[in-house]
This record gives sequence, C-alpha cells and structure tokens, in this order.
Amino acid sequence: MVVVKNEVIKNDQEIAVMREAGRINARVLKEVKALIEPGITTKALDESAEEIIRSYGAIPTFKGYPGPYPFPATLTVSLNEEMVHGIPSGRTLKEGDIVSVDCGTTYKGFIGDSAFTAGVGEISLEANRLIQVTRESLYKGIEQMRAGNHVGDVSAAIQAYVEGNGFHVPRKYTGHGVGSKMHEPPQVPNFGVPGKGLQLKEGMTIAIEPMVLVGTPKTKVLSDKWTVISEDRSLTAHYEHTIAVTDKEPVILTRL
Ligand code: MG
Ligand code: MG
Repeated sequence: MVVVKNEVIKNDQEIAVMREAGRINARVLKEVKALIEPGITTKALDESAEEIIRSYGAIPTFKGYPGPYPFPATLTVSLNEEMVHGIPSGRTLKEGDIVSVDCGTTYKGFIGDSAFTAGVGEISLEANRLIQVTRESLYKGIEQMRAGNHVGDVSAAIQAYVEGNGFHVPRKYTGHGVGSKMHEPPQVPNFGVPGKGLQLKEGMTIAIEPMVLVGTPKTKVLSDKWTVISEDRSLTAHYEHTIAVTDKEPVILTRL
C-alpha cells in the first residue's frame, strides 16, 4: 500500500484480501440479521458475531478499539434513537424496535466494515421508510465512488437523497478510509458540496456510512461515553459498506 499525504492506495492483492475480510463480515451480518427477533438480547447477537468471526481465524476489529475506554464488544448494536456505537448488553429486543448493527472484521491484516438497520417484528410505517431511505442513500453514495470524482460528490449525493426525503444527516460522524486501519483518511461526511474535497483514485478503499435521523441533525453521547443518540430522541438508522474505487464500477467489498 502507498501512503501519500491524505491518500492510502491499495494494490490489487491488498484489495483481494480486503474482499475476503469483507465477505466474512457479510456472513456475520447475515447471521446476526437472522437472529433478530423479540426477546433476544443484544449481547447474544454479539456473542454469535464473535464466534463466527473467530471461526474464520479472523479478529473482531471493534473489540478493544480505543475510545473513552476500549470498546468492549464485537458489534455495535444501537436501538431506535441510538444512532451508532451502542454497547451490547442484557437488554432484549422488543417488537417494533429498529436495531442498527455495525461490525468490523480484520483478516490477514485488512478490515471490512459494514452495517445495517433492521426492524424487530412489525415496525411503524415511518420506521420502515427511514430504514429504506437510509439504505437507498448508501447506494446513492456508492454510485459516486468513481476515480476522478471528489469526496464531495459522494457526500452531496447522500445528503440530497436523505434531506429530499425529509430526514437529516449528522454533522459529527462520517464515513472514512479503511484498510489495515479501521479509520484512515479521507473522512467522508454524509453532507457536502459536489466537486469539493479530495479526488478519488483507483485503489482507494472507503467505508461509506449514511447515518440518518428523523428529527434533527443533532446528536449527543450517552453517559456510557460510547452510545451516540439523536438529541431529540427521534428514530435513527445506519447503513454501511466498504467500497473499492477501481478503473471501472465501484466494488462493494463487504458483501457475499
Ligand atoms: Mg462500521
Ligand atoms: Mg465505519
């Protein structure tokens, strides 16, 4: 890999390893999604995720990740008004909740980072629409992940889609380059101006992660110092994929 200023360019072999990491991560998220039902604890989801990652000889990237204190789990599991970084616990999922699950897998030194939001049982029409708009905004961003485009093109596409649907994006939490480290340059905000920011180049690998809030863009951190919630406690959702910029179409590394 070649690091120049704010750019980390991966070669084809490195991207191939990231694809393997991403595929394991996708298997984890698929399995976790299948477990989501009323009555299961967020800790049970987390234990299942760790077991699957380790069965591949891979490492849970989030566990021990530095912060206010080392992150204590494999997944972040965030319910309803919790947007990101929720800590798995004995809390149980309830019918009507929406749950955002984020996972990172390190395999042969490279990382896949991906997230989804799902409903628990029957959910409200608004919750359904929030999840759908968040997922679709991810693909609006991915579509812009082309060599020659700028970070602002990705950011603006996500922002326009989310705000066009009457929802909000946070200002403090962003997508990011990812590779041998979970957070590499550049940051990729979910808001921006087309044509602005770093120019995308073949070999860049970036986690695009729209976070979407129903009420306002404002967030705050709970007293556990990790969990980020909407300030007005309105519903939130989160989707993420790790993408490689190529000389052709953008490649989603974190899917099966
Ligand atoms: Mg993530
Ligand atoms: Mg990420």
